[in-house]
Amino acid sequence: MKLHTKILLGLGLGAAAGVAANAFAGGAPWVRWVSDNVANPVGQVFLRLLLMTVIPPVFASITLGVAGVGDLRKVGRIGAKTLAYFLASTAISVVIGLVLVNAFQPGAGMDPGMRQQLFETYRTQAEGLQSRMEVGFGIQTFVAMVPRNPVRAAADMDMLGVIFFSIVFGAALTLIPRARAEPMVKVVEALGDVIIKIIDFAMRLAPYGVFGLIFVVTARFGWELLGQLSAYVIVVVAGLAIHGIVTLSLLVRTLGGMNPLTFWKKARPVVITAFSTSSSNATLPTNIAVAEKDMGIKPEIAGFVLPLGATMNMNGTSLYEGVTVLFLAQVFGVDLNLGQQLVVVLLSVITAVGAAGVPGGSLPLIMVVLGSVGVPPEGIAIILGVDRILDMCRTVLNVSGDLTAAAFVARSEARAERRQRTVGAVPERPAA
Ligand code: ASP
Repeated sequence: MKLHTKILLGLGLGAAAGVAANAFAGGAPWVRWVSDNVANPVGQVFLRLLLMTVIPPVFASITLGVAGVGDLRKVGRIGAKTLAYFLASTAISVVIGLVLVNAFQPGAGMDPGMRQQLFETYRTQAEGLQSRMEVGFGIQTFVAMVPRNPVRAAADMDMLGVIFFSIVFGAALTLIPRARAEPMVKVVEALGDVIIKIIDFAMRLAPYGVFGLIFVVTARFGWELLGQLSAYVIVVVAGLAIHGIVTLSLLVRTLGGMNPLTFWKKARPVVITAFSTSSSNATLPTNIAVAEKDMGIKPEIAGFVLPLGATMNMNGTSLYEGVTVLFLAQVFGVDLNLGQQLVVVLLSVITAVGAAGVPGGSLPLIMVVLGSVGVPPEGIAIILGVDRILDMCRTVLNVSGDLTAAAFVARSEARAERRQRTVGAVPERPAA
């Protein structure tokens, strides 16, 4: 049996076992025991193996990418295209969410009793998040991208810090004599190869890891909650589905030059890993491997665009933020006019850039957006009970959005190179 079939099987069986355990023995001590002592440890080992492999390939691929491109102007051009694509696709995704939430008004008729009950149940959790609410986006955000200590940045999984250091490192490599740079390039290449092997090992554990991770979530999940918040959940999932099936597929076809069906088929391991881990960071190594091996995207592009995307490009998260803020505004009867909704769009895009690619990474930032438009931030308690399931779904869009960005940049760079080659070839032609 092929590995991805096995992983899918793990996902399906884990979900079914968890839902069954919840339905027939919800809250039973043995279910808890199995979750804590079997399913969760297996899932966590898988997750940790993936996380263990995040930083070295980011360093290796960006360093080699920049050193390989050689021309810093070209690096700048690739960076500019990447960022423009990130911002545009993220903005489209928030707008889809806002249109749906305005059209269906999922929060409008919420029963005040239920609102109170949800609020009480998840209040402590919301208070915990509040302490992590970060100050907005400003000049400090840019200053903080330059790491004081690259080793600490790596240890803290400060992805932007690692990316910055790697770009500078790669650029410096091109500026020293070739003979001196060569051994370092060889070491970094070997580092990248070794990590790919480790990811292979980790993926062999994936069917079991995925089973464990899904079992833990579904066995503990309060399924009744899904019913109570069904209108909200449906709007989020529908928005994500529309963005994936319509927007991303269209972007892949028009800008990436790929058949969307082929794209989604090849992206399957990425989708499954994102869904089961709820973490863009943990999915990054798989994403890089799929882009390079299965989609044939050049390593210097995949290795540059995807790590940036894992922290900066979160299509699913921004849509989720927009819908959640408007939903809670409806629940609390706060009327947001068009101008305020535009502020929500802007803040959702910005905070999605700032959210960490870990489970629930965007929650403290959603509280910031809520506060900025006059909705009580602690109101987030109302949706916390269904957050994990929605996190699984939005993370899928976050990482597949990155993959579409890589496809776009790869195609556009290939075109630029072809153009340059033809222009360069003109003077060589014999005069007629
Ligand atoms: N879990 C998301 C990710 O890693 C971030 C979030 O929306 O909470 O991409």
